[in-house]
Amino acid sequence: MRLKRLLEVALVAPALMTAAPAYADAVAGQGLTRYGRVSAIAKETVTIDQGCARDKPLVVPWSQIEFIKIDADCATHPVEPPVAGLVPCTGNKMAGFKVYLSGAPEPATAKAVWRSGDEINYEQFNGTVSSGAYSALKGIVRTTVCLAAVGDDDVHVEGFCDEPRQLAVNYAPSAVSDNTIFTRGFAIYVEHLTGDERAAAEGPNDEDIRESFGSALTLWTSALLRMKNAGRLPGDLTAYVNASVSRGGAYSLLTPPQVVRVRCRGNAMVVVRVGEQAARFQLAGGRAIALSQTEGRMLFLNTEQYRFKNGLHGPVSPGDIELVSVMTHELGHSFGLRDVGAVGAQSVMSAEFLNPFTNVVEPTDQDAEAFVAVLKQSIAGAAPGVFNSEMCSGLRDVRPVRARVFLQ
Ligand SMILES: [Zn+2]
Repeated sequence: MRLKRLLEVALVAPALMTAAPAYADAVAGQGLTRYGRVSAIAKETVTIDQGCARDKPLVVPWSQIEFIKIDADCATHPVEPPVAGLVPCTGNKMAGFKVYLSGAPEPATAKAVWRSGDEINYEQFNGTVSSGAYSALKGIVRTTVCLAAVGDDDVHVEGFCDEPRQLAVNYAPSAVSDNTIFTRGFAIYVEHLTGDERAAAEGPNDEDIRESFGSALTLWTSALLRMKNAGRLPGDLTAYVNASVSRGGAYSLLTPPQVVRVRCRGNAMVVVRVGEQAARFQLAGGRAIALSQTEGRMLFLNTEQYRFKNGLHGPVSPGDIELVSVMTHELGHSFGLRDVGAVGAQSVMSAEFLNPFTNVVEPTDQDAEAFVAVLKQSIAGAAPGVFNSEMCSGLRDVRPVRARVFLQ
C-alpha cells in the first residue's frame, strides 16, 4: 500500500514541474548568469526571482550586470548578449544602456531604465522619458554610449509615449499634508474622447483647462493663506504657506502649486476628460456640468452640452459656464470635500452658490475651514484616471430650464 502511494507521488511530480510558470529571463554579469523571472527593474538594481518556481528573489546592482534578457522559455540555456546597435566608440563616452524592444529596428539608447507596473521606461540622453508596455522589452545591455552618436532629436518607438525633459524636472511633487492628493505640483493629462467636436471647435482647449486648473488651485491655496492670517492653520500647512509666499517691500506674492500638462497619460497625477457622452452626466436631480471622483484624480467636463470659458479673461456670457469655478468645485471633491446642499449655503461646494455659473467664485471662510479639515485627514485617494461612479460627485445645473436652451 505504501509503495503504491510512493509510486503515485513519483508519477505526479513531473506533471507538477511542467505546470510551473514558464519564465526564464536571464540576468548576466561578471561570469555569473541567473535565470528566473525579472520582477523589478529600478534605476540602481534589478530583481530576479530565481528559478521557474519564482520563489527566490535576488537583488543585483546594475553595476554587476552586463545585460538582461527577457525570455518566456523556462530552461537554463546559455545566453548571449544582444549585439545590434553596439558600436565601438573612440570619442567621448558615457555610461548608458541599450534597450531592445520588439517592433523597434534599432535598440534605444538610454541613460536610465526602470520598470513601473506594466510599463518599461527609459530616459534618453536629451532628457525625454519614453514609456510603453513592459511586454515589448526583449533585453537591456549596460554599455558605454558614444556621445557623438546621441542625437538631440527624440527617437520614437512605435507604441511608446515620449515625455519631454521639462516634465521630468517638475514631476513627482510631494504631498503638503496628510491628504496626499493636494501636492506642491500637479501633472495633468487632458484626455479627448473621439467625437469631441464641440470642445475642438469652441473650447476649452488643453491650455484653457491647464490654466483654469491652476487658477482653481490658486484659489484654494489663497484660502489657506487666509486661514494662516487668522491664526487657524496647523503647523505643517503654515510651513507650506510660508514657503509659498515671497515678500518684498509692501508686496507679497503667493506661488500656488504649479500645473504642467503631460503628453503621456501614465505620467499624469490627475486626468481631465472632455468629450464624454452626455449620458454620463444624467443625475437623479438633473444633469451635471462636470463630474469628479471624490477623493480621487479624475475630472469630467460636460463639453457635449456646455461651453466653458475662463472668467479671469473677461465676462462670461449667460449660457456659457465659467470654468475656474467649475474646477474649484470639482477639485474640492478630488481633495475629499462633499457637496453642500443647504439652502443659502456660502460655499463653492454648493451648486446654488455658483449659480448662474458665469462668475469666478472664491472659496469662502466655510470652505477654507472644510479644506483644512480634509487636508489633515489621511487620504490617499483613487489612482489617476480611476473613476468609480459610486464615489463621484456632479456639479448639478440648477439654472432655470430656459437658460440651457442655448446649447441644446
Ligand atoms: Zn459637486
